[in-house]
Amino acid sequence: MRIVVVGASLAGLRAAQALRSAGHAGELFVVGDEQRLPYTRPPLSKELLAGAHTVEQCDFPCDELDVTWRLGAAAAALDRDAKAVVLADGERIAYDRLIVATGCRARTWTGPGAELAGLHTLRDIDDTLALRRELEAGSRKVAVVGAGFVGAEVAATARGLGLDVTLIDVAPHPLLPLGPLLGERCAQLHRDRGVELKLATGVKGFRGKGAQGGAAGARGPAGGSAAAAAGAASATADGAPAAATPGAADAGSGARPTADRVAAVVLDDGSEVAADVVVVALGALPNTEWLAGSGLTLDPGLVCDATLTSVDDPDVLCAGDATSWPHPLADGATIRVEHWTNAAEQGAAAARNALAPAAERTPYAAAPYFWSDQYDVKIQAVGLPGRAERIELLEESPEGDRLVAVGVRDGKVIAAVAFNAVRRLAWYRRQLADPPSFEQVAAAVAADDRALGAPSGVGR
Ligand SMILES: Cc1cc2nc3c(=O)[nH]c(=O)nc-3n(C[C@H](O)[C@H](O)[C@H](O)COP(=O)(O)OP(=O)(O)OC[C@H]3O[C@@H](n4cnc5c(N)ncnc54)[C@H](O)[C@@H]3O)c2cc1C
Repeated sequence: MRIVVVGASLAGLRAAQALRSAGHAGELFVVGDEQRLPYTRPPLSKELLAGAHTVEQCDFPCDELDVTWRLGAAAAALDRDAKAVVLADGERIAYDRLIVATGCRARTWTGPGAELAGLHTLRDIDDTLALRRELEAGSRKVAVVGAGFVGAEVAATARGLGLDVTLIDVAPHPLLPLGPLLGERCAQLHRDRGVELKLATGVKGFRGKGAQGGAAGARGPAGGSAAAAAGAASATADGAPAAATPGAADAGSGARPTADRVAAVVLDDGSEVAADVVVVALGALPNTEWLAGSGLTLDPGLVCDATLTSVDDPDVLCAGDATSWPHPLADGATIRVEHWTNAAEQGAAAARNALAPAAERTPYAAAPYFWSDQYDVKIQAVGLPGRAERIELLEESPEGDRLVAVGVRDGKVIAAVAFNAVRRLAWYRRQLADPPSFEQVAAAVAADDRALGAPSGVGR
């Protein structure tokens, strides 16, 4: 049996590794449009951007893996009748089973000023190296448009490098899916470290050095006013609706920089934020266009059943950021998750299912988990905070630097979020296997000596 994996990143690598571990001795192809072997992305907005990690430290070990790599090769189409992946150069790779792991790309800005040099997005190693070069070359003023997870991390890293940072978002607080209470805590983290926040503030466009100041400078071919909405990736990441992002679009359609260089972000009210460098962090879009015309259902993720198998074809499975699949915490509605652990686990789960007949495949139902490092704070969440109707603070250290909150929907706890409370989160994670009522969780925490802020002081 020949298995083809498309997407040579985390989900694709974990799928290939799991196929070999599970005893697949047949042919195994991994096709990826990047030139590099798989690497991990979380350091791209943190250690690699800060210069604390090298590129090599981001690489996954994969030398030992018995795989036919096709790197620098984009899948352009899927011919399901012939059971073949068609590459951009016309080559066809036949498969018995296909695992789609093409992930996401950064949403870019296509509104006024999109052509200016100095505008960056962050999705791959080259993006980070390009941004780092500019920061090292003396750019002092960094504007980050979009206060989702990647935007907030970039702001923290740039501030850690001693740069002047402004974080802008049309939403009233950073990290939209975590709700106002935790979003405000995150905002305060950034304010305390000297980041200027411009919240509930839309972006009209970007003005170049060659243009006059004021809103007029932001007028470009796209014209009109565009509001920047951040956190789109994280909003969709757990199934919550994404904010509208006029002016933001598909990375493939972004204008290329010209000689003129960005000088300022023009806000909706016409005022400006001076910037030598702008990071556009408006979320991500799934790379599934190559599947258009294949007859597979796209939403735009590849729509799968609970076993990560396409709802249209038992020989096509999906893993990672590009996957839409029904989740019990969402009452069986499909969700798409853009988190590292999900991509790793789904890669392995899709691989095991690819080796089994359709009737014997097992559902993937783990509660989604992510972390985000900002300054000295580790934010972690488990479950679906973006679907919660309310977020309730249940634990907090007396110093106020550590906390745990839960997300509640229909009276049930469907998420928990921790700031610097790694061990406490593990307890909440176990509860989500069978979502308890808010009252049950609140009572258990009140009786737990290890809870942060418990009178015994154990949980300090
Ligand atoms: C800057 C950054 C920081 C992050 N930090 C965190 C974090 O702290 N915590 C956390 O939980 N998550 C984090 N994430 C998210 C995490 O990295 C992703 O969830 C994970 O990379 C998803 O893996 P994937 O394999 O599904 O997709 P991807 O990593 O997006 O990989 C998909 C691969 O497929 C390739 N591809 C796309 N289309 C084609 C095609 N047609 N043909 C061939 N190849 C194709 C892409 O180029 C890419 O190499 C971060 C992401 C970014 C970008």
